[in-house]
Amino acid sequence: MADEQLPIGVRRYVEQGKQWLAAVQKQRETMRAKHFDTIAVHGLYGAEGALANQGSIIEPAYFSSAQHFENSDHLEAALAYLMPAWAYSRIANPTLHYLEETLALLEGYGFTGETSAHVTASGMAAICMATTPFLEDTGAMNIVVSSKCYGGTFMLFDERFGRERGIEVRWIRDPLDLNQWVEAIDDNTRFLFGEIPSNPALAVFDIAAVAELAHRFELPLLVDSTLATPALTRPLCHGADIVVHSVSKSMTSSGFAIGGALISRADIPSRVGPPELRSDFAAYVKRFPARDFGPCMSPFNALMALSELRGLRGRLDQLSSSAMGVACILAGHPRVESVSYPGLETDPGHAVAKRYMRLVDSEADGELQNRYGHLLSFCVAGGHQAARQVLDRLQLIMRATDLGRIKSIATIPAISTHQQQGEQGRDLAGIPDNLIRLCVGGEHPEDIIADIEQALVG
Ligand SMILES: *Cc1c(COP(=O)(O)O)cnc(C)c1O
Repeated sequence: MADEQLPIGVRRYVEQGKQWLAAVQKQRETMRAKHFDTIAVHGLYGAEGALANQGSIIEPAYFSSAQHFENSDHLEAALAYLMPAWAYSRIANPTLHYLEETLALLEGYGFTGETSAHVTASGMAAICMATTPFLEDTGAMNIVVSSKCYGGTFMLFDERFGRERGIEVRWIRDPLDLNQWVEAIDDNTRFLFGEIPSNPALAVFDIAAVAELAHRFELPLLVDSTLATPALTRPLCHGADIVVHSVSKSMTSSGFAIGGALISRADIPSRVGPPELRSDFAAYVKRFPARDFGPCMSPFNALMALSELRGLRGRLDQLSSSAMGVACILAGHPRVESVSYPGLETDPGHAVAKRYMRLVDSEADGELQNRYGHLLSFCVAGGHQAARQVLDRLQLIMRATDLGRIKSIATIPAISTHQQQGEQGRDLAGIPDNLIRLCVGGEHPEDIIADIEQALVG
């Protein structure tokens, strides 16, 4: 309905909504001119936001389930999506909005176009919300996915989409081999999906080349950038269309909250879906699929995430440097068969990782400094039992299926995170049963190394 046809009272609120959106856009433009750390610290919540919230210098937590409206016109305008509102927290909430705006700015840092974000209850919810809109059923369809991906992602695609819904999943065995991507795409493909670097195989792929390929076929490229975080890699700058994150992991080191996010650039390609899906994907997800499926993030978790994002760049710098040191020591250890870490020159993905994994705002001699994140994996000589013994002997490093923490954590994916996908699935994902995944935390690197060395020697 054109604005002129609306009742005058409703029109007043539509106008108010436009003014609010213009003010938000102005704040975004102001913040976009700032550096990464400044954006991470303030997001869109500045002096004006504080004065509108009792002067609170920290983003307030809005735990309210719903919004009270001034009158029926206001209610109608909000519920018809004619104006932005916080009508009901399953769909929108001011605290979530602060986090979404910060994430859109951070992932969009250095990118010239518009970006927007939608946060979810978990990383898996984000991946689900980022992919289901493309699976509109208009006959046979397939999705093209790097097999080097998180175990939960594998199960979502293989079991939920593949087995339950009959969607063909075309796994790319070696995501570094562009030909494998080319050969997998056909008229029924809906999207391309890759993870860089991948958990736990630490595989990488050439984002720009795969994005270019996707766009040639009018397909979106979705990238899981959980391990890199925007402090190291911003896939939208290299041509990706949608970025997904487990906010539970490296973005938030404390381990207090589970959360997820999807961040999209404006005007993405897609062979299916309405025009709104293409023009602003994150907003589309928020208004429609997420409204209906309902995997909303809790405002408490949003606040936890915001609080930790403020120091993201410095933390990833420190943790990556420690991980590099640990990877080098492991690579030279007689009881270690192999180490996967994109920072090692011997790693098959090193050249590609070197192009994509750079600490934001770290120019020295005109070059950004490479940082490769804090996850690595290594295979213990002597097979599965030997790997179990090493894991069992760790004293400082925790045994858990988690990563991204300020505390070092190790696990054996074959019996934990990647147990359910079976031997065949693990082979596809490149996960031998003597592989230990280690996420390097904020402890002094010498203490981390000492713990691993005593566990390896036994
Ligand atoms: C953990 C993880 C996810 C899933 O995130 P949750 O918040 O646990 O749902 C997705 N991708 C990667 C790379 C992960 O490590």
